[in-house]
Amino acid sequence: MMNLLLKNAVYIDWQTLEISKRNILVRQDITDIQFIKATEIKAHDRDTEVLDCTGKLVTKSFAIGHHHAYSALARGMGAPKKKPENFHEMLQDVWWTLDKHLDAELIESSALVTAMACAKAGSTFIIDHHSSPFAVRGSLEIIAKAFEQVGVSHLLCYEISDRDGTVIAREGLDETESYIRHHQGLVGLHASFTVSNDTLKQAVRIMQKHKSGIHIHVAEDPYDQERCLKEHGKRVVGRLSEAGVLNSPQTILVHCLHLDMNEKEIIRSSPAWVVQNCESNLNNNVGYFNGSGLGEKIMHGTDGMHSDILRSARAAYFVGQRFDNIKDESAYRRLRNVHHYLSHNDFKGGGDNNLIVLDYDTPTPLMRENFFGHFLFGITSNHITDVISGGRLIVRDRKITTVDEQAILKESRKQAERLWKSIR
Ligand SMILES: [Zn+2]
Repeated sequence: MMNLLLKNAVYIDWQTLEISKRNILVRQDITDIQFIKATEIKAHDRDTEVLDCTGKLVTKSFAIGHHHAYSALARGMGAPKKKPENFHEMLQDVWWTLDKHLDAELIESSALVTAMACAKAGSTFIIDHHSSPFAVRGSLEIIAKAFEQVGVSHLLCYEISDRDGTVIAREGLDETESYIRHHQGLVGLHASFTVSNDTLKQAVRIMQKHKSGIHIHVAEDPYDQERCLKEHGKRVVGRLSEAGVLNSPQTILVHCLHLDMNEKEIIRSSPAWVVQNCESNLNNNVGYFNGSGLGEKIMHGTDGMHSDILRSARAAYFVGQRFDNIKDESAYRRLRNVHHYLSHNDFKGGGDNNLIVLDYDTPTPLMRENFFGHFLFGITSNHITDVISGGRLIVRDRKITTVDEQAILKESRKQAERLWKSIR
């Protein structure tokens, strides 16, 4: 196990934003990083790989609060023959058609390309929400292995739902329980409107038994609320809260667009977290996120659209100018809140030995005082040259070091064609 020395870096502390010249010693077996003096470097020579970071920025890597690796091969697939007219048709005609065609090979390919894209865009931790109704059993293990092959950490769940009948809902529950018995993971539910009372009860039972949390889409579209009022005589957050979903600090409520003030207050005063997915909301034309009244426990997700969380944070800031109470600082804090979520819940893989190196040749002075200006208007994932995950160098000079990137992409293009043919 080699140690890694990032020599002569301009280090930005992700919490205090203090900027300083540092030599950083990174280890795989210790999550903390160590700053060492230039005179001490020689002593570490033999067992240490040195990365010259002269003129480069180094800071903590990112993590993605909500992703769907399973949708990776949809890129460029083309729209269905009849254009979906609303949110529910979009689910039925695109995503629920795609996920029904997934098999083990497609799941693996999707997970490998997603992990590589995340790593190259600076994310070393993925919180994923998976769905493959006709290949449920063992699906989470396939994703976990693929992510680990690339070298990114993860918190996975299976998207349990009654939309394909009670047998498949049962398989989702079983897959969840058998997975979280041996791995860190969550209990995934699709959304209130596709989950029966019985399935909801079973999911919360698994959550409680394994001291886990629920990961669910909440009020992404008014449709979720309409169905809940009609079928259960209450609003979505009320229903989930009464079932016990919000009692865990591991619980993740995704989207939270169409909530009333009472629902926001229930979430704010609970230990549960919220993930916003700005670009996905724009793409599906379902509305705009507004964090007012939800408290501070808000993170960013990409919702399977892409794997560049910095881009998501920036989009949320711009769209939020009109629709949200977001400031430059809160945009940054929401990007970084995922680290608090992970450490607060003692999940492995979110420690300080996760770093990115950026080749950011700034045309203006970069200081602690103007960092947010650079974060919003300057720095992009294209500046990332190297990525360290759990003390391991998994991206070097913009190339993945752990797997054969070109071979995986070649295979995924082949798999994508197979998937598209099977759908048409
Ligand atoms: Zn989602």
